[in-house]
Amino acid sequence: MNKLIKILLVITGIVLISIIGGISYFYVSFNNYSLEDNYELNEDNLTYFNNSYEEARKDFRLKSDELFKKYAGVKTFNIPVKSDIDTNLTIDFCYIPSLGNTDKILILSSGVHGVEGYVGSAVQLFFMNNFISEEFISKTGILLIHSLNPYGFKYSRRVTENNVDLNRNSDINPELYQTVNEGYPKVYDLINPKGEVETTSMANRFFFVKAIKEIAKKTMPVLRQAILQGQYKFPEGLYYGGNDFEPQIKDLVQIIDTICDPYQMIFSIDLHTGYGERGKLHLFPNPVEESVRKRMEFIFEGFKIDWGDSDDFYTVTGDFVSYIGKINSDKTFIPIAFEYGTMDSQTTLGSLKSIHIMILENQGEQYGFASDEDLKKVKKDIVEMYYPSSDKWKSHIIDETKIMFTKSMKRFSELEL
Ligand SMILES: [Zn+2]
Repeated sequence: MNKLIKILLVITGIVLISIIGGISYFYVSFNNYSLEDNYELNEDNLTYFNNSYEEARKDFRLKSDELFKKYAGVKTFNIPVKSDIDTNLTIDFCYIPSLGNTDKILILSSGVHGVEGYVGSAVQLFFMNNFISEEFISKTGILLIHSLNPYGFKYSRRVTENNVDLNRNSDINPELYQTVNEGYPKVYDLINPKGEVETTSMANRFFFVKAIKEIAKKTMPVLRQAILQGQYKFPEGLYYGGNDFEPQIKDLVQIIDTICDPYQMIFSIDLHTGYGERGKLHLFPNPVEESVRKRMEFIFEGFKIDWGDSDDFYTVTGDFVSYIGKINSDKTFIPIAFEYGTMDSQTTLGSLKSIHIMILENQGEQYGFASDEDLKKVKKDIVEMYYPSSDKWKSHIIDETKIMFTKSMKRFSELEL
């Protein structure tokens, strides 16, 4: 009997030590999360990046003016986005019509998620500098849309001034706002804590314990879908898609419709950051029919397209690229999102860290911060997540983009209707 008790005690001890060891390991990894970039640094690549919305817009306008002088029929213009606190927020456009036939047009858009505009703008400037040539526009028109959510870009938020995720708000039919996300109420408390943000509180330091319990209960794919799909019920919550069209979504319909009108085929690339393996350019298409899928595979031959057969896949409602497709429902439409990974969100730890940063940022916006330090830390983390300060990261994603554009733009040029 004594022996049995001893064995039981030893087993209990081992289990306890394992649990404590596991939690300690996660605690340290979670609270000191950082990723290294072992890429080569090419200083020239850094010239495309600007550290503010105003500077990024200024460069975009300068580059647009250059193109205006160089090619016939180029149109550069902007539309204001109304705000309660800022009178200088615009979405900027540069349209370069095809010099030849009007078979095809490329749309390259940035900043749907405001703070992702830093990288989106850099990629657009890189494209404008290196990929627009007489030869290219003899076969295709180009529309560049800069900073679709200028409020979010300027004030380092993903969402608009109304706390709306523009990539859940985009549609031409207001029925979108009646969509019910049944999983969301079940994750509401986990991702929408109330009260002032105190970054060093026990609840925040041990956020991963609560989250892992939820993952165990619901499984990661179910949890991911419930959180990321978008919701139309809780205006203060994460991934809120709004209850009406955001002003720019209303204003853009006419502009996109008019510019695309002469073209038969539209290739729409929307630029994002934050999701996926760090330093990697991921291709996320929308669900498409077979003929479009074939065209996409032609354009991106040699690259991996994330068709949604992997575990970290999720679907959303009200995304921006689909909206461009809905405006052009009578045409061949090829939609894709470029997603530049920053946090290794394909790992459990990376995804927990990402969602936690977003939770704190939104909580702070809704309920305030316990101190200035908390405010600074949260703001720093959110920018770092969507616009890494690492020069090697920035340099590398331009290198990745170069490879991607060089091949895919040539293929798009060759693509037949
Ligand atoms: Zn995004």
